[in-house]
Amino acid sequence: NLTQKLDKAFKNLKGQGSITEINVASTVKEIRRALIDADVNYKVAKEVTDKIKNEAIGQDVLISVSPGQLLVKITSDELTALMGEKAVPLSTDGSPAIILISGLQGSGKTTFSGKLAQFIKKQGKDVLLTACDIYRPAAIDQLKVLGEQVGVDVYAEPENKNALEIANNALDYAKKNGKKVVIVDTAGRLAVDEQMMNEIEGLKKGLNPTETLFVVDSMTGQDAVNTAKTFNERLDFDGVVLTKLDGDTRGGAALSIRTVVDKPIKFISYGEKMDALDVFHPDRMSQRILGMGDVISLVERAQQTFDEDEAKRINKKIRKNQFSFDDFLSQLQQIKKMGNIKDLIGMLPGAGKLMKDIDIDDDAFKPIEAIILSMTKDERENPEIINGSRRRRIANGSGTSIQDVNKLLKQFNDMRKLMKTMNKFSGSRRGLPNMN
Ligand code: GDP
Ligand code: MG
Repeated sequence: NLTQKLDKAFKNLKGQGSITEINVASTVKEIRRALIDADVNYKVAKEVTDKIKNEAIGQDVLISVSPGQLLVKITSDELTALMGEKAVPLSTDGSPAIILISGLQGSGKTTFSGKLAQFIKKQGKDVLLTACDIYRPAAIDQLKVLGEQVGVDVYAEPENKNALEIANNALDYAKKNGKKVVIVDTAGRLAVDEQMMNEIEGLKKGLNPTETLFVVDSMTGQDAVNTAKTFNERLDFDGVVLTKLDGDTRGGAALSIRTVVDKPIKFISYGEKMDALDVFHPDRMSQRILGMGDVISLVERAQQTFDEDEAKRINKKIRKNQFSFDDFLSQLQQIKKMGNIKDLIGMLPGAGKLMKDIDIDDDAFKPIEAIILSMTKDERENPEIINGSRRRRIANGSGTSIQDVNKLLKQFNDMRKLMKTMNKFSGSRRGLPNMN
């Protein structure tokens, strides 16, 4: 799956202190492939990744995260920005407000109309649903059933074959009955065709709706983008509704549609239940597209809590092979500041998954800290001077055993050796000794 692919892609970047042109190139290529797999349009995927590449190069990597993890975060921020950064609310101002629903047959218009009616009703506004699918009698019944479910009136004229007339009559009805919002559900076809386009265009011109929404099935991938483009050229709609996000689809269509038609996505619909509707949030969708929400929140937390100057200072010492127990202690304390250690480890791709079930709690670092704190300044800087009698003293002082002290010293030594070979800290938790 995508996460595994990205995991693999980011492996190239582990063990690097900052993002360079060489190590980023292959990763960016993998991200591009991953985006395309998530149904993002090829051109869009290329634009995004080119931009990410330029932004990423030269960025210093905080010691707490690996360059790969940082790149995921950069990618996610970029996708969020491309999808508009913030949620764009639906306007329901008007007397009454008119919301015109457009889209192909089967895209989920009628289902969405019911959901939207409930959504607006919950905001305390009186809503009227209007059945303007004049071709299928069953469509009227379907809307009536949904209206009943959500407790909203449905206006319909089964004999009338003029959609605009029905809609106008519905408006009169709404005004007389104190309805504040009128949702107009319309007919669709299986593919874009002239008659449907003329009809929906006529409805838009005739009704002058507060908002025209375009409903699209997110599972239709590349077609979704083309349909959106065609509808937008004719209707100049105000917002997009992505449906059927309850399936396997990663939502790449959201990114493609947004970049191709430059209209905000306003809602996502993810099931047949009437409350399976959410306002569209670009940041959440970007995490869904990347499939690495855990990594992203890890990086965010790291960015919030890690002292960047301290990280740089330690990085420098590592490069000079001067990493000391004091530096190690400082890192432990930073990691602890980030919160629950078990959570953090669970968030790490790869190793994190393996270690998730190992019993490690927030107290796991306590004996390590105690041992280091029992060392003298000199000992922390030059662990090689810690002989047998010093070990005994440290064990006594820290309330641990000589075996614990020996173990930590050995692990610390191994870690330093590893650093020496790489001469760059991996940034992953690889170097951390544990007390198990
Ligand atoms: P319309 O032709 O555009 O009005 O589409 P409908 O609202 O009738 O929906 C077509 C089919 O898709 C129906 O079987 C719906 O139950 C189903 N459907 C609509 N929205 C969703 C959704 O968000 N998730 C899933 N899984 N099915 C949906
Ligand atoms: Mg319908």
